[in-house]
Amino acid sequence: MKQSALPVENINDEIVNLAQDMIETMHLADGCGLAANQVGDRRAIVTIDTSALEESKTQYKNIVLINPIILVESDEEADYKEGCLSVPTLHDVVKRPKGVKVKYYDLGGNERIIEDDDTFARVAQHEIDHLNGILFYEKLTPMRRALAKSKLKKIQKGHLLPEYKFVNQAGEVL
Ligand code: ZN
Repeated sequence: MKQSALPVENINDEIVNLAQDMIETMHLADGCGLAANQVGDRRAIVTIDTSALEESKTQYKNIVLINPIILVESDEEADYKEGCLSVPTLHDVVKRPKGVKVKYYDLGGNERIIEDDDTFARVAQHEIDHLNGILFYEKLTPMRRALAKSKLKKIQKGHLLPEYKFVNQAGEVL
């Protein structure tokens, strides 16, 4: 069963620390996005950094999104090769709306809106899916999903280990 993330009700020091740990974990893993449930926390927190992506035209560095939601999706769709820290070694092309308008709260508790039709839009959709318990391979076309089947089976059985390390809230690398 898919579990949705729990909304953050109060942005306190613990949330700020968790977000900072997530940013550190994301960078250690060479990732451009991370959702809190990927590091074992069920709250609706996402971190995004698109600044290292070569194809980025817009640059969003170390953005923390609390309780993010997608307000608007563009009709135009785009293909993009995605990977995921929770689905090690699988990279495949996913079709998604090209642009989105995302609403979230920053660590200061301010409501913010980002409109983007570049890599931020892509990463935000992938990460907000995580908060709703959806992994990117569930969005592959049936053909692509069939081709990825044996790899996915190995991943699900744990035969392929993540290529990255997690940092816990005490700052220890696991
Ligand atoms: Zn992911």
